[in-house]
Amino acid sequence: MIRKTGLCIVLFLPLLGFSQAAQSIGNYWQQKVKYAMDIDVDASNNRFRGKQKLEYWNNSPDTLSRVYYHLYWNAFQPGSMMDERSRRQGTMQKPGGAPDWDNRVKDRIQKLKSDEIGYQRILSLKMNGRPQQYKVRETILEVQLDKPIPPKSKVVFDMDFEAQVPVQIRRSGRDNAEGVRFSMSQWYPKLCEYDEEGWHPTPYIAREFYGVWGDYDVKISIDKSYVIGATGYLQNPAQVGYGYETTGTAVKRPAGNKLLWHFNAPNVHDFVWAADPEYVHNKVTLRDGLVVHAFYKIGPAQLKKQYDVLSATRKAEYDNNADNFIEHYKSQWEEVLELAKLALPYIEKTFGRYPYNQYSFIQGGDGGMEYPMATLLKGAGPDVVVHEWMHSWYQGVLANNESIYPWMDEGFADYAENRVLSFLTRDTAFAYRASYQAYYQLAKSNKEEPLSTHADHFNTNYAHTTSAYTKGCVFVEQLGYITGAQVRDNILLEYYRLWKFRHPDANDFIKVAEKVSGMKLDWYREYWINSIKTIDYSIDSLWEENGKTKIRLARIGQVPMPVDVQLSFKDGSKEMHYIPLDLMYGVKPAEDATITRKVYEPWHWTTQVYVIETSRKLMEVTSAEIDPSFRMADIERKNNKLELKW
Ligand SMILES: [Zn+2]
Repeated sequence: MIRKTGLCIVLFLPLLGFSQAAQSIGNYWQQKVKYAMDIDVDASNNRFRGKQKLEYWNNSPDTLSRVYYHLYWNAFQPGSMMDERSRRQGTMQKPGGAPDWDNRVKDRIQKLKSDEIGYQRILSLKMNGRPQQYKVRETILEVQLDKPIPPKSKVVFDMDFEAQVPVQIRRSGRDNAEGVRFSMSQWYPKLCEYDEEGWHPTPYIAREFYGVWGDYDVKISIDKSYVIGATGYLQNPAQVGYGYETTGTAVKRPAGNKLLWHFNAPNVHDFVWAADPEYVHNKVTLRDGLVVHAFYKIGPAQLKKQYDVLSATRKAEYDNNADNFIEHYKSQWEEVLELAKLALPYIEKTFGRYPYNQYSFIQGGDGGMEYPMATLLKGAGPDVVVHEWMHSWYQGVLANNESIYPWMDEGFADYAENRVLSFLTRDTAFAYRASYQAYYQLAKSNKEEPLSTHADHFNTNYAHTTSAYTKGCVFVEQLGYITGAQVRDNILLEYYRLWKFRHPDANDFIKVAEKVSGMKLDWYREYWINSIKTIDYSIDSLWEENGKTKIRLARIGQVPMPVDVQLSFKDGSKEMHYIPLDLMYGVKPAEDATITRKVYEPWHWTTQVYVIETSRKLMEVTSAEIDPSFRMADIERKNNKLELKW
């Protein structure tokens, strides 16, 4: 999701501390893969043939009699599940009345001609040298094994396959709106993940991904004129050149029309690449052991075409001048590595160290999409650049299942994006305001579904997107309201330390949060993730009794929360009154040392009202406000504050 912002980037260094708590993650296990793939691309007809050797370690305690692969590109055929679903969304409405479909997909799949569709066809499949029986169920390949795979054992699959690159409809494909020849995501038969919940053979309908951790060795043979950006380290830069070679080295390309590109990516769960003859390739060393690359094409003719299809409002942003658009677009790509350089120290301090030696920002021509060690981007504005890079933490490394826990990658990445952008712009305003507003709109829309809904199965794209991104973002910021911001930051770092290179789920995150904060937080997961209940607290009344002021608070919404109440007085002083929630079994540390805080006995979640008091007289009070930080997502803010006019 990309929001339009005008950003001014400046640099300053933050000071953040963190102490780690030692923890184990119990009996956790995960499967492992090792792919070796050889791909021969015929760029003239947009097809390729591939050989795939897949070593598969069954680390589970279970015997596997079947395995499943994803064949994502079969979705780009008229009448596919993705096509059907997209057209159905067109008959539904977002708030405001617009059709609920993804404007990039609409009914475009239905119109694809035979040389524009995508496909992945299996030519042969063996396990340990023996041919296997399989069935193609559109985007899922189901393999009935002749011998089951016992627990704690390894097998080798050998596959021959062929594929046609679809005209880009969504994420993957060729010849997209920005004229990039090949945006190659979801391009190979990819083994589905098997975890404690069993297999995840999720038919592809345009949502997101989940893959098996492992190593990739990928050789791509393609017409010599193409430049490739990819997940993984290029193994033969001196034969390839195109900016990969060490400065000053002479590039020796082998004879012939094609060039072989050999990439290696250790400890990732997917592999993306993109290729275009006009890619500009820039790279910069960000710190010891980390080189960041950018691949983009800035052909004015193509950019002019893009300008021509902009809406009138978008054109007006460029003073109705195509050259302004072209300049703006080019400069964003030219500055993307500089932006990465400015952001990295803050990102690593706040969210953990980026663990690979390479990252690539690649123009892929369709929104932004995260992949290990790389992103495909449309445009390189600071928001989408930061958002997609933050997915390296939230999904690239903390590899939650994006279908089942979409809020754990989109929500967390959205949170991180907002936070990093406010660091870069030195904007001190509440960074998550837009996310809270979007959540409030969702909560009042009658379209909301619980965040625990499988991403593919939300009734509307609107509810899916708003929930995953904004309610997910609010989850993280609001966690800071419950535990205190510093504790929340410690939780994020500990979560990263403990779960990197694994598949955390919602419970895993909550368990880390509970250990670090010393609070029970299961109730927060139940209400925020598994229900659509909402928060609403109010200041009910104030009165004076025996020279003291009493304030009655009321819980109107169904979600119970701890409550901060700030009292302000005529002399300019303030008091913070804090009532923990009984379900927390803990107390948030004071967050502002400059304000006196009074901590109360916990508020029972079964009780509707709670009375607090101050020793000051009523006539001294100017206002009482619940959560002046605005971090509690109270859907009715109007009743949070009572001002006394004297
Ligand atoms: Zn995202």
